[in-house]
Amino acid sequence: MGGNVKELQELKTSIIESIDRKSIDAINIAKQVLKNPEPGFREYKTSQIVKNEFEKLGLNYEADIALTGVKAKLTTGKSGPNIAVIGELDSLIVKGHEFADPETLAAHACGHHCQIAMMLAVASCFSSSDILESLSGSLTFIAVPAEEYIEIEFRNDLMKAGKLEFLGGKPEFVRLGALDDVDIAMMTHTDARDSMGGDIGVAPTNNGMLAKLISYVGLAAHAGGSPHTGINALNAATIALSAIHAQRETFQEEDSIRIHPIITRGGLAVSSVPSDVRIETFVRGSNVEAIIDASAKVDRALKAGALAVGADVNIVTLPGYLPIVTDNNLENIYIENAKRLVGSNKVVKMKHRTGSTDMGDLSQIMPVIHPYVGAASGVAHGPHYLIEDYELGVVTGAKAMALTIADLMISNGGKAESVIDDHKNLMTKSQYLKFLRSNFKDEYFSYK
Ligand SMILES: [Zn+2]
Ligand SMILES: [Zn+2]
Repeated sequence: MGGNVKELQELKTSIIESIDRKSIDAINIAKQVLKNPEPGFREYKTSQIVKNEFEKLGLNYEADIALTGVKAKLTTGKSGPNIAVIGELDSLIVKGHEFADPETLAAHACGHHCQIAMMLAVASCFSSSDILESLSGSLTFIAVPAEEYIEIEFRNDLMKAGKLEFLGGKPEFVRLGALDDVDIAMMTHTDARDSMGGDIGVAPTNNGMLAKLISYVGLAAHAGGSPHTGINALNAATIALSAIHAQRETFQEEDSIRIHPIITRGGLAVSSVPSDVRIETFVRGSNVEAIIDASAKVDRALKAGALAVGADVNIVTLPGYLPIVTDNNLENIYIENAKRLVGSNKVVKMKHRTGSTDMGDLSQIMPVIHPYVGAASGVAHGPHYLIEDYELGVVTGAKAMALTIADLMISNGGKAESVIDDHKNLMTKSQYLKFLRSNFKDEYFSYK
């Protein structure tokens, strides 16, 4: 036993040294991704960066998974669980961000560029044979597309063209069987240090969500000369938005409902009564029952808008992401390693988070962790969200995952096995896919 402890400590020291040696390279990768922001399912440049790095490391990879995803597997040659380290390829679209693409407005306002760099730093560390030789099992390094659930119309078209079935990268990976051989998954997200109150944080749960794509159909007419002969789809939409707001007092605090519609088309020509008005919205909540209940209230409110002015409305409901529930045992192993790196007082336990991630989907079917590194300033998804501390956001974040992997995979992968044995999956893969498919709904409501 004493020998094992010594071996583990020596291994951890080597891991830290190895990641430190290549820290500049890792940070440079993050900055390269930052300067090439691409929204989901079109991350071609970013995915090329990942492929180049996998090639440099001599890792065989599969590419073009869910359009832009890349996956490389590293085996120790000894049997044992397969642990995935994930980085998300996609950016957001945020006007006014310092690193926004001037044409597309794509910008890394959620720090995913650091995730790619962390994943590659861990891959680089374990690609060294003296680090890998004391471990059992396999590691899979994954660059996954489209975590941000945006550009719903664009993705809906990809879906209709048969290129996708679901609108997020990880659900697509699950559907395609790209995670069938994975037993445990981890990734690390960046967060704003001020809101976190520490350097590294863990949160037990996140909201899940459904998405809606709504089109109001009115009747165009001269907006000055004969508006009484038209049907104003914009008026229908604004009444619907008010009707959605009127539902808010019915939501329970513990369900953390968040509904935040945007109008993506408000009309076609100002001199014409708006006949084509479109809305996108999420319905988020901490549990599936509450999301479905709120979703039904939103549908009712949307129809009320149509009814009021005599318009029609098409409501397409799309499966979104499931609430995340992280694995306690895995998280405790991670926390001990995080404390070693940044000190006990800088590792914080956060509360339930009201954003959503498709890591939640994976958490339904396998043990996962989704910790945070407080490397950013500003507000996530806003124009001022910038990584201030790349050492923490890339290097320390990579080390915390790599040390956790060492714990899991040393001694014949005993700890990984016990995490898996203790973990109770909330769903099987087929139950999960069936649930997602059951959320699709395409309803056309005509007031007539
Ligand atoms: Zn985000
Ligand atoms: Zn994010």
